[in-house]
Amino acid sequence: MSTEETSQSRDFIRQIVEQDLETGKWDGRVQTRFPPEPNGYLHIGHAKAICLNFGIAREYNGLCNLRFDDTNPEKEDVEYVDSIKEDIRWLGFDWDDREYFASDYFEQIYEWATQLINDGKAYVDSQSIEQIRETRGTLVEPGIDSPYRDRSIVENLDLFQKMRAGKFQDGEHVLRAKIDMGSKHLIMRDPIMYRIRHQHHHRTGDRWCIYPTYDFTHGQSDSIEKITHSICTLEFENHRPLYDWFLEQLGVFHSQQIEFARLNLTCTVMSKRRLLELVNDGHVSGWDDPRMPTISGLRRRGYTPASIRNFCEKIGITKFNSMTDLGVLENSIREDLNKMAQRVMTVLNPIKVVIDNYPENQDEQLDAVNNPEDESAGTRTVPFSRELYIERDDFMEDPPKKFFRLAPGREVRLRYAYFITCNEVIKNDDGEIVELRCTYDPETRGGNAPDGRKVKATLHWVSTKHALPAEVRLYEPLFSKENPNDVEEGEDWKENINPNSLNVISGAQCEPFLADAKVGDRFQFERQGYFCVDDDSTDDQLVFNRTVALRDSWAKAKKG
Ligand code: ATP
Ligand code: MG
Repeated sequence: MSTEETSQSRDFIRQIVEQDLETGKWDGRVQTRFPPEPNGYLHIGHAKAICLNFGIAREYNGLCNLRFDDTNPEKEDVEYVDSIKEDIRWLGFDWDDREYFASDYFEQIYEWATQLINDGKAYVDSQSIEQIRETRGTLVEPGIDSPYRDRSIVENLDLFQKMRAGKFQDGEHVLRAKIDMGSKHLIMRDPIMYRIRHQHHHRTGDRWCIYPTYDFTHGQSDSIEKITHSICTLEFENHRPLYDWFLEQLGVFHSQQIEFARLNLTCTVMSKRRLLELVNDGHVSGWDDPRMPTISGLRRRGYTPASIRNFCEKIGITKFNSMTDLGVLENSIREDLNKMAQRVMTVLNPIKVVIDNYPENQDEQLDAVNNPEDESAGTRTVPFSRELYIERDDFMEDPPKKFFRLAPGREVRLRYAYFITCNEVIKNDDGEIVELRCTYDPETRGGNAPDGRKVKATLHWVSTKHALPAEVRLYEPLFSKENPNDVEEGEDWKENINPNSLNVISGAQCEPFLADAKVGDRFQFERQGYFCVDDDSTDDQLVFNRTVALRDSWAKAKKG
């Protein structure tokens, strides 16, 4: 933390932490946790929570635990546990040996439930879930007491033990807290603590057939781990009275729950349920499809951990829900890659150029700058020869006024090479342009004319006989609607999937420098954006994902 930073510039959660450190509220301790449910891969929203929890621990000499909130056996899986750990480490955070599972606390949580029954503060309800829902009341009407609410402690204990012992079917009974069916907080109207679920759990196997709810697990787990600041997203604000009530009734260590606004990104869905649907229905190739907002998708797309951390810092922490423009995330990777990415020339959609006055069998090596933002990156050589590829878009036979690139009779610069002039356009029988015949000016080697004449365009190019073929995948946002979660009744959110989100270009041509590129390597293709080598690459062909274009072009297009 820099010394100039005042508490004013800190977000409200860090202000609370600093105040607690000043007053000695937690004996100078700062202990946070990141509590994912292992029912999907982590996404960029989780990254915000990870940077917050691990970041606070790091900044205030505290600790952050990794805790799997695994109380929902039917949706959870070890595949998710493993991916979550990999993603947090990749983001640059570490939990040492503090890897916990809420399911490790099931025995303690069961004992606490028994304690509340003994204290007359919990009861077994034999109504169906539907009946319980129907009698809960509304914001303006109180709920109705269950006919089982006044069961004796002895009967409750007996039934709860039998629930655990597997004597009942799913849904026959639940355990509820006995609080107040007339409470103005709906969450306090005798909330459910345990459900019967004859389900195999990824860690506890078949040991349990009753599972505690989130509300009767989360605070209890925080208490066991002596968490000081239990940071969660705003939708749990309503749950806070219950969080506090359980910990008070049990008389155990009482962590402080603090809520912040979750991250929402334009043109993106973030709910794991929806992301899973995209995967299962084949709208994407998997959780790590480069279009997914998952950490693994962003990694494959070419995002760096630093760019994601910088993004999280930039958006800050607030108490109100809002929507962050996807462009903000893209800017953070652009900034990072601009500083570090090796520049290369790749022609995505090639057209052949033949330089008539260049000797047939000559090659030469021209010097090219590796990164103009970083002198220490040095230079490389790029081979030049009589036949080249340039970008098809960089030529127009009949150019409009504002088109300054190559056209018949016009001179342009080939980057790091020579000025060339187009003299003739060769077409096939269908009238398609297949080749451009040009001449070069040998005096302009390196890209400058000794007589000082100027050209209006500089094009990237690749020598045909040295070129490496590549597949290049260009992306647009996965959803064409700014808020794809905002759907009318009867409308399917998947209808807003952008049909152009993936554009595969199979005939790209790269300069030979890329022969040594490895999966995960990142480059700037001059004038085309930042690209990352995908692990679909083979010995015969490189595959690149475009991480991001050089400028925010689609956002402008979207706004018209
Ligand atoms: P989702 O709604 O996407 O399925 P979740 O909240 O159910 O997410 P969890 O695995 O329970 O997912 O989340 C772990 C932690 O990450 C929680 O503390 C949660 O509040 C936080 N988190 C989840 N989504 C976001 C988000 N979009 N922005 C910030 N924090 C988030
Ligand atoms: Mg959750």
